[in-house]
Amino acid sequence: MEPIRSIKGTQDLLPQSSYRWQFAENKIKAISETYGYREIRTPVFESTQLFKRGIGELTDVVSKEMYTFDDRGGTSLTLRPEMTASVMRAWIQNNLGQEGGVQKMYYIGSMFRAENVQKGRLRQFHQWGIELVGSPAPVADAEVIMLMIRTLESFGLKSLKLKINSVGDENCRPVYKEILKDYLRPHFDQLCKTCQGRFETNPMRILDCKNETCKTLIHQAPVITDHLNDECKTHFESVKNLLTAAGIGFEIDPFLVRGLDYYTKTAFEVVSDDLGSQNAVGGGGRYDLLVEQLGGKPTPSVGFAIGIERLLIILEERKLLEDVKPKAPVLFVAAFAQPHIEAMIPIVQQLRGLGIQTEIELLGRSIKAQMREADRLGAQFVVVVGDNEMAQKSVSLKNMKTGDQQQLSFDQLVEFLSGSHE
Ligand code: AMP
Repeated sequence: MEPIRSIKGTQDLLPQSSYRWQFAENKIKAISETYGYREIRTPVFESTQLFKRGIGELTDVVSKEMYTFDDRGGTSLTLRPEMTASVMRAWIQNNLGQEGGVQKMYYIGSMFRAENVQKGRLRQFHQWGIELVGSPAPVADAEVIMLMIRTLESFGLKSLKLKINSVGDENCRPVYKEILKDYLRPHFDQLCKTCQGRFETNPMRILDCKNETCKTLIHQAPVITDHLNDECKTHFESVKNLLTAAGIGFEIDPFLVRGLDYYTKTAFEVVSDDLGSQNAVGGGGRYDLLVEQLGGKPTPSVGFAIGIERLLIILEERKLLEDVKPKAPVLFVAAFAQPHIEAMIPIVQQLRGLGIQTEIELLGRSIKAQMREADRLGAQFVVVVGDNEMAQKSVSLKNMKTGDQQQLSFDQLVEFLSGSHE
């Protein structure tokens, strides 16, 4: 029979490498919590309407990339392509705004997008995200950017590029869109097919088109930062000043628009040369209108998401995970036969109860093969148990690094290992 294979664009996370993910996730969780963010988990599927309303029907994500299906009752469901809309749905539904002040939340989870698969672009991928809900202040934008950059730096990642822009608000953006359209109209025929389609519906997406002709045309286009109203301009200036005060370098990119419709004012992205054409590690921005679009009270908010697969690609390429190792056993118990295993079981139990990683032979192999196995697993110590050891209730403990051996009673063994494991 043909074995069944996984779906293109999905990945197995195998025991051989899951420790790297755990390392990244543990660091991310610890830093998020240091900044006062608490975890939120929401369902993997939601009503399709949530993403249509939240992300925008005309975005690539919603119009081309969603995994949408009808359940048995005929309700249209979608596997989440991102989590901000879900988090805000949960925030509204659970009246989290009632607590007053701001809510600071983080998540780590799988997202699903039917994209063309390539390096760093999958159909099921994972994001770490942050949402700071309830503050209109520029310091909120700066805080999430600081958290993002400091976290990346804590992995040893320097020289990543932070790009920021302001995409305006509901007052100045429509005016800018018309100015942009006026500029592009005489060149309409030169735009690529996709951008011709975007011209009426979403002209700002033309700004980040990868097509060479579109890029050349856009080069001379009027930029939004010259057309911000006073409120957006002041906000953008304050965010820049705060980032400078935090010692965070950035580059202003007036062509940065991002793919999701809900952004207002600040938009930002972190890019790396290690990633090839999919060069964004993460990005985010302010989304002051989203909660209202989802049926809640106006609630200014800001957040970001980082792709964990992409983060790990960069860490691996920059050799920043070399020192991250899976946990190795402290003790490997090698035994000649079944009675010797039985004699050691209570000790193994005791050690494991103390949180000391202990392995016991599970295959009944020769002692030589068991020693090889202990070595392969990277065990710190080994004991070999036979008739003598069982009778005397003592073992010779071998340090696998130094080769030193010492004679210990069973009790001494437990005492010694509780004090000496790394
Ligand atoms: P977005 O939600 O589109 O703003 O994406 C935020 C981050 O998620 C990106 O910068 C990527 O790191 C990651 N990401 C988005 N789409 C994918 C994908 N298809 N495969 C892997 N990572 C992705």
